Order: sequence, then structure tokens, then C-alpha cells
Amino acid sequence: MSNISSKTKVYSVIGHPVSQSFSPKIHNYLFEKYDIDAVYVSYDINPDHVKEGIEGIRHLGIMGTNVTIPHKIEVMKYLDEIDEKAKLFGAVNTIKNVDGKLYGYNTDGTGLTKSIKDASGETIEGKKVLIIGAGGACRSIAIQLAIENAASIEIVNRSIEKAQVIVDTINEHFDTKAVAASKIITQEDIDNVDILINTTPIGMGTEESPINTSLVPPKHMIVADAVYKPHETAFIKWGLKHNLKIAYGIQMLINQGIHSFSIWTGVHPTLEDTENILKIFLEQQKNA
Ligand code: NAP
Repeated sequence: MSNISSKTKVYSVIGHPVSQSFSPKIHNYLFEKYDIDAVYVSYDINPDHVKEGIEGIRHLGIMGTNVTIPHKIEVMKYLDEIDEKAKLFGAVNTIKNVDGKLYGYNTDGTGLTKSIKDASGETIEGKKVLIIGAGGACRSIAIQLAIENAASIEIVNRSIEKAQVIVDTINEHFDTKAVAASKIITQEDIDNVDILINTTPIGMGTEESPINTSLVPPKHMIVADAVYKPHETAFIKWGLKHNLKIAYGIQMLINQGIHSFSIWTGVHPTLEDTENILKIFLEQQKNA
């Protein structure tokens, strides 16, 4: 930080609110590690001023920005080009500024699939997946799982209409067989599942679990949670109790950040970087 000069490039995250964002820690660690003369800051942009915020990014020469809630859909109107995958996701979480031209991407889905692959050493291909929740996180994750050739995806949500919209997109574009349901998840529902993912906020700051923790998972099942505060949610604790492989919410967050970093810089951080950033997160949690 003491080396900031007139040549230092600026990257950012925009959202509302944004002061809680962990992204500055991820990217400032990576800029320092890879000796890149850049700094990453956060901007709280009011929903009424997203257009002006994006024009600010363009004209101030901010080289790249992450986009978080609630602006991921709105920003798409003001970009010059949007990656095909981000169009399918219907949301952008990464913007790259190339000489004033703004390109939109979405790294949320790959953040989760990379976490699953790192945790299990397995690929997504041929896997039977059950996803709980059908919001923005589910949409990116489910479509990315289909891109990586999951065999089937069941989306269970309290309002089935939202799940059905995502399922229709998958069935229209991919070979993966997708179905939507609104139900209490039973033992029978999870008996044949390879990957179980929570994309609801259930468990955030509470001991609640999105499924009944008296259910017994198949031994090979991988459990993934989008929620990352606390680090070990009740859902994750259930997976740990049954010795399952776990993809933590914070790993999804770190991996989507790492993918954004690669889009901006062309640099591909290592697993050791993921682990070092996780340590920074856990230390921050301990001191919070
Ligand atoms: P969202 O668009 O608001 O969707 C939330 C989904 O959860 C909806 O389908 C909603 O059901 C369902 N839901 C909410 N409260 C529920 C409850 N009490 N019982 C049952 N279902 C409930 O949110 P999102 O953007 O997808 O984010 C979901 C979670 O993932 C948040 O906790 C967010 O922080 C986390 N997240 C983490 C990462 C990461 O990198 N780790 C990235 C993105 C999001 P209805 O459709 O019926 O309303």
C-alpha cells in the first residue's frame, strides 16, 4: 500500500451495502502476491445511481469491478458486451474495462464448481445434484453445473415457480435433466444424490439447517453451502458429522474472486493462494 503512485491501477466492488464485503481482502492479497501495481476498493452505489456508477468506472479508468447485491442484473443495461454465459445466468458479477469499453462476466457458478472439485478431486460430469433454493445464486450454480455436464439437477424451493424458470433454461440449452419441486426433503430424496447444495440464506447467523439433520446422507455425497457466515453452518456440521466432503461457502466466494482476478490480469492463482485467503478470512472472523 505504501507504494501507491500515479501509475497504480484501481479495481473495485460495487454493491449496496458493501462495507461487509470480503472481496478487498481477496484481491489486495493477490495483487501483492503477484507483484501487480494495483489496489482494490469498495464503492457503495445507491440503486438509483447504478448508471452513473458504471459511467464513473468507465471514465475514471477503474480497470475492473466486481458487482454484488443488488446491482448484478441492473448493471447489464450499461455494459458494452456481455459474455454468453453471463447472459444465460441473467446477471453480471465481474466487469472488465478495456480502454473505456466495458465487458461483463459472471464467475459465481465457477466459484462453486471449483470449490466442489477442489474438495472432492472429482469432476461435475455425470453427477446427480440436488439444489435447495432458487434465487440468483442457484441460477448461476445450476447453469454452471449443466455447462460442466451434471447428469441431473433437482431444484427444491418453497416457491416452485422460481425453480421452474431455472429448470426450463437448463432443459432448453443442455443435456442435463432438470426438475423443479416444492417439498420437504426426505431420506428417499437424498439417497441417490451425489452433490447436495444449499443456496438459501438458511443458516446465516443461525443454527438452522435447510434440511432435517436426522437424515442420513449416502457416504459418497458432497455437501456445498453458499452461506459463509458462520464458516461452519448447521448444514456443513451435518456433512462433517457424516464424514462427507465439504465445499464451504467461503471457498465459493474466494474462487469466484480468483476467477475475476484471472479475467482481469491473466494470472491464475494457486490452491495455496485459496488456502492463504481462507486463513485471512478465518482470522478476521475470530477478531470480529
Ligand atoms: P436470493 O436471490 O434472495 O434467493 C434466496 C432463495 O432462498 C430463494 O429461492 C428463496 O425462496 C429461498 N429462501 C430464502 N429464505 C428462505 C427460507 N427461510 N426458507 C426457505 N427458502 C428460503 O438470494 P441469493 O443471491 O440466491 O443468495 C442466497 C444465499 O447465498 C445468501 O445467503 C447469499 O449470501 C449466499 N451467496 C453466497 C455466495 C458465495 O460466494 N458464497 C454467492 C452468492 C450468494 P423464494 O424463492 O421462495 O423466495
